[in-house]
Amino acid sequence: MISSNLRRIRERIEEVSRRVGRDPAEITLVAVSKNFETDAVREAAAAGQRDFGENRAQELRDKYDDVGDDVRWHFIGHLQSNKAKYVARAASVVHSIDSIKIARALDKEYAKAERRAEALIEVKTSSEETKFGVEEEDELKRIVETVAESERLTLVGLMTIAPYAEDPDVARRSFAELREIKERLDVEGATELSMGMTHDFETAIEEGATILRIGTAIFGERTYR
Ligand SMILES: *Cc1c(COP(=O)(O)O)cnc(C)c1O
Repeated sequence: MISSNLRRIRERIEEVSRRVGRDPAEITLVAVSKNFETDAVREAAAAGQRDFGENRAQELRDKYDDVGDDVRWHFIGHLQSNKAKYVARAASVVHSIDSIKIARALDKEYAKAERRAEALIEVKTSSEETKFGVEEEDELKRIVETVAESERLTLVGLMTIAPYAEDPDVARRSFAELREIKERLDVEGATELSMGMTHDFETAIEEGATILRIGTAIFGERTYR
């Protein structure tokens, strides 16, 4: 089932990309495996999936200890600095930097782990619903500077979570806003837009997403214990 789900999503990514004149090869699909066992990760990896996302630091650490570097791990959740060490051990990409404090904590832990990471800053693009992310553009610039001065983190782009809504134009406004912020910021090398989940990834592609984070459509509904 996972492999046919992946096939279907890849087809949708291709179709939507071509329809809006984009090259599907410039879009990375991150399979969000949170709340699923590593068997599901292995099954997806066997079907050719390379990038996996987790939103909780300990769960990421545990899965990394099990599966290792055969796949590429992305941390996509809200992070507290005392848990940065778990992320630094495992993640090649961190999507959810939302403060100077977290950027510094990650830099320190990646140095200890003798690893490096690609970094994205999470931006709050809607006033309601989404809880985390940077709200002020001045604050965003200060975090950009902190990452630029860091030893272990390389800024590659911005991330956002759109509010959940039936009307696709609600997500569209969030995604367009993230794209505009990225253009205004205009930092060399910071070209990635991590946006789009199961219910809004097609809109995200239309608005310029380069990284999609998709869980449910690949692994099924999550059951929380
Ligand atoms: C869970 C999660 C996703 C994936 O959500 P789905 O709706 O299952 O595709 C994407 N991004 C973040 C930050 C998440 O926490």
